[in-house]
Amino acid sequence: MRIGIIGQGFAGTALAWRAHWAGHNVILIDKGHGGSASWVAAGLVNPLVLKRKRLVQEAQACMAAFTPFYARISTELGTSMLFPDEIHEVLPDVAAENAWGALGAERGFEPFTGPLKPNVDGRIHATSLATVTRSARLRVHTYLEESRTFFAQKHLLLEEKVTDLRPMETHWRLQNDLDVDVLLLAEGFQAHWTEHFFGPLPFSPTKGEGLKIRWDGPPVKQPLHKNVFLLPDGDGTYQVGSTYAWDGFDEGPTEKAREEILQKLSSWFDQEVEVLDQWTGIRPTMRDRQPVYGWHETLPRLGYLNGLGSRGALTSPLLSDRLLAQHLGRNAQKS
Ligand SMILES: Cc1cc2nc3c(=O)[nH]c(=O)nc-3n(C[C@H](O)[C@H](O)[C@H](O)COP(=O)(O)OP(=O)(O)OC[C@H]3O[C@@H](n4cnc5c(N)ncnc54)[C@H](O)[C@@H]3O)c2cc1C
Repeated sequence: MRIGIIGQGFAGTALAWRAHWAGHNVILIDKGHGGSASWVAAGLVNPLVLKRKRLVQEAQACMAAFTPFYARISTELGTSMLFPDEIHEVLPDVAAENAWGALGAERGFEPFTGPLKPNVDGRIHATSLATVTRSARLRVHTYLEESRTFFAQKHLLLEEKVTDLRPMETHWRLQNDLDVDVLLLAEGFQAHWTEHFFGPLPFSPTKGEGLKIRWDGPPVKQPLHKNVFLLPDGDGTYQVGSTYAWDGFDEGPTEKAREEILQKLSSWFDQEVEVLDQWTGIRPTMRDRQPVYGWHETLPRLGYLNGLGSRGALTSPLLSDRLLAQHLGRNAQKS
């Protein structure tokens, strides 16, 4: 079957690999990085929502899906992209340590909350550091860029904006002359075609900004989190962020976000830093913060995957599998 996929963020890329592995003829259509949340993501694969002290929905199932998924792509592309990388939560005092202990005792949290370690870095304002076990880091650009190249080399990638899309009797016609049997919409925040065919989605998108920084001084080796994440990139630079804002979607990076991030970082990390870069993206978050996906009831084979919020790297391997299995069967063969 010929499967067209609109969007090459985490959602569309995961769908493309799944469909390719199932033996289908994939055609991936993406208008470019501008406006894509995935291309600015830090690549944390983290089952705990540390800010809210809750678990990602179906954390265990997501965790079970992501390792084999990225491992298989790494093998196909001959490049590593997923690394175990335990996040350390910065605990400033005994009360925070007790709260972490209580969290670990809650149902479902136990596999992900590790022991406390003493803080030995004088720059970090913490009595101890708590480990988020089984967290990992995806090299986002390697994953997205190499996947894009893989499909492009097979002439399965179109770099353009889909502006014309019509249901025919048994298939779909895109841009006047491209016919596909199945169409999957993975448009992220600007879900024009998804909302056109499925009706309005319950979006509550959030703008996120992040910084690239460096400093002269001893490195930090592990990802750290308190009110922001500090993530070593391994080359002496670090990503720090990100912010959450419900407006300003048309603006680029802002001074306000830069100050907010640096102020939060300096509240627990005593180190003068130099800012090298700043970026922004819109997370496709739904009002209830849950992903949305499904198939159209009447139109021919039309599916969508959206609402990956702040967890696209973690949830897209599982949800792409679910969506395809719902309609095409997990091991659907070429036809
Ligand atoms: C600053 C920041 C940091 C983040 N860090 C992390 C992190 O560490 N870990 C994590 O898991 N998540 C993170 N996220 C969240 C993550 O980025 C999102 O969950 C994810 O990107 C959503 O993926 P998506 O594929 O649904 O959307 P997108 O990445 O937005 O992709 C949609 C794609 O569809 C294309 N498109 C849309 N309409 C059309 C059309 N008509 N024709 C052609 N192409 C079209 C767009 O150009 C885009 O490329 C972060 C987000 C931000 C903003």
